[in-house]
Amino acid sequence: MIDYLYRKLHNLTHPTLGRILMLHRVVEQRSDEPEQRELEVTPRFLEQTIETYRHEGYIFVSIDEACNIIKGGKRLKHPFICLTFDDGYRDNYTTALPLLKRHNVPFAVYVTTGFVDNKLPMWWYPNQQLGLSLDELTALDNEPLCTICAHTLSHPKLDNLTVMGQQKEIVESKSILEQWLGHQIQHFSYPHGSYNDDTLSIVKSAGLSSALCAWGGTVRRGDNPFLLHRIELRQQ
Ligand SMILES: [Zn+2]
Repeated sequence: MIDYLYRKLHNLTHPTLGRILMLHRVVEQRSDEPEQRELEVTPRFLEQTIETYRHEGYIFVSIDEACNIIKGGKRLKHPFICLTFDDGYRDNYTTALPLLKRHNVPFAVYVTTGFVDNKLPMWWYPNQQLGLSLDELTALDNEPLCTICAHTLSHPKLDNLTVMGQQKEIVESKSILEQWLGHQIQHFSYPHGSYNDDTLSIVKSAGLSSALCAWGGTVRRGDNPFLLHRIELRQQ
């Protein structure tokens, strides 16, 4: 009850600022397999989503801007939308990028380093090679609208790992991306939305500025930057 009242009071004093949307793949032809299908949106659907939000007065911002707004450093007159794509699918480069450039929409790609060049399989897409190549990742990174972020080495449920195991997945994935791309990586997202108290202390001490959950709803001023909520963008 006290928790409930505290949350109510917190929400009253900390107005909603916007939404961080979670996406995975953008494909012309969605799969019939339900587990795959729920990760996929069509270009037309993504385009309609952008147009609808713009029509309703939302402003599209990068993950850096979103964090700055949540921290209270920057104020916007309008609510924001921040687009994020998890895992590092090749179609983020081939299909999403041209569309988002056309609409001038910033976006972030959270890359599991093991999926780059398909070194590790994406087991939920058996026998398919869907990961970005290192060249495509570099090309995405060179796009001013795109921010590359970390999403572990091998996409585990972090909550299931030892502290050492979590440390390796988080710190090494960040530093591998930094070596590949030649600059700092600031943002992280939890695979499967899985984390525990150890995960939070590791992401804080790793020099990251934010970490994203897989659910939770809208974001408010003063939210914990290492537990930022997201809303999954789902196409029926
Ligand atoms: Zn993921």
